[in-house]
Amino acid sequence: HQREDCPLDKDELGRSTWKLLHTIAATYSDKPSQEDQSNMEQFIRLIPKVYPCEICANDFAEMLVLLLIIDVLTYHPPNISSQKSFAKWMCEAHNMVNRKLEKPLFDCSKVNERWRDGWTDGHCD
Ligand code: FAD
Repeated sequence: HQREDCPLDKDELGRSTWKLLHTIAATYSDKPSQEDQSNMEQFIRLIPKVYPCEICANDFAEMLVLLLIIDVLTYHPPNISSQKSFAKWMCEAHNMVNRKLEKPLFDCSKVNERWRDGWTDGHCD
């Protein structure tokens, strides 16, 4: 890991961004209003437009399109409709990047333990 007081490299930026994105998904409402959902949809769509790593942003934009097509084909309800579905969606988006980078895939059934509740053995309490 790089030093705390230096500009971020690609990996440090990625780690920090995933922390923010998963924590946003962890604290998203269980019953989001139309406005909550619209804000979140805009936020996600804007990431590839502003993310300061060009190759990451371009690929992520393509992944978003792919995830959207999968949702339509499998008749998934909109993924921003609840905390659980949004956290799972974010996990799947991260796994698409993991797959591309040949990193281990994360078990998305455990995403709320990792980012919201802490693990059942209590080591995060
Ligand atoms: P990270 O992948 O940063 O993960 C941080 C922590 O999240 C892990 O320790 C783990 O506990 C947890 N985690 C892992 N997977 C999941 C999951 N699926 N769901 C929930 N939690 C999980 N890097 C590139 O080199 N090329 C790219 O094209 C690229 N594209 C990116 C696109 C986006 C939108 C973002 C945010 C980052 C991108 N990155 C890219 C950075 C890359 O994803 C990693 O952040 C970076 O390689 C550091 O990886 P890491 O192994 O430290 O863990």
